[in-house]
Amino acid sequence: MADNIVGIIGGSGLGNALVEQLKNVSIEDIDTPFGKPSVPVSIGTLQGRQIAFINRHGNGHRFMPTNVPYRANIYALKKLGVTSVIASGAVGSLKEAIRPKDLVVVDQFIDKTTQRTSTFFDSTAAVHCAMSEPCCGSLRDAIIAASKNIQATTHPDGTYVCMEGPQFSTRAESLMHIAWGADLIGMTAMPEAKLAREAQMCYAMISLVSDYDCWRKHEPGVDAQDLLAEIIGNLTAATQNAIELIKAVLASDTPLCNDSCNCRKSLDLAVWTDKNAIHADKMNQLQVLFK
Ligand SMILES: [Zn+2]
Repeated sequence: MADNIVGIIGGSGLGNALVEQLKNVSIEDIDTPFGKPSVPVSIGTLQGRQIAFINRHGNGHRFMPTNVPYRANIYALKKLGVTSVIASGAVGSLKEAIRPKDLVVVDQFIDKTTQRTSTFFDSTAAVHCAMSEPCCGSLRDAIIAASKNIQATTHPDGTYVCMEGPQFSTRAESLMHIAWGADLIGMTAMPEAKLAREAQMCYAMISLVSDYDCWRKHEPGVDAQDLLAEIIGNLTAATQNAIELIKAVLASDTPLCNDSCNCRKSLDLAVWTDKNAIHADKMNQLQVLFK
């Protein structure tokens, strides 16, 4: 099956800016076994494709990263028939060459979160999905190909450290992340990417670079107010770049991915618990993930 409806999760920056671009919008208020998603899902068309959009932080940015209902968001998109998810989020750069306003098509994550449930199956079964390649290769290729048609600098790969927050890193932590070989620091890609994998959906992340993380000392004489204004300006510019990129991806004739993708078969060998030991009612609630 081709992607009949493409899921888009907008983070800081993209939230309402993308909804304004959708045509023929309808709002779906969806319930899931994990509660309500961050917002009712906006369904509409963009570049002729059907889109299901969720603003990750909710209206008015009400959910801090720890409290985003990641499971409900992914479950809701799956329930709507979404097979590919393009997510976005603001990040700090850990590399001089990845500049504010740039976009990065992330290929790896380091999960440092500690307070989020990272599986749909915590009360059902032991389910172990492969995560060596956490993003769909085909979906990433489609985004990288489309990036040739926009002006903004788009980096074709990058390792994203997901921290718990809500505070930003200390300088020692920032330097440690650099020593790990990471490129970006953010607070929201995890457990979202893991849950998309458990939901057998293709997932890719476009990161919007708002600033250099604190490893890089600021120019002398720049005060906090100036810095904040600069970060907001960078994020606004990166958001416009991300919208251009998403539109270019959707406008392309190339399929984003297809049902032969390993992302869409991720549960085939992942359930380790004996079928007889699984509580049938609980598993029935999760059948939507197996489709
Ligand atoms: Zn795929």
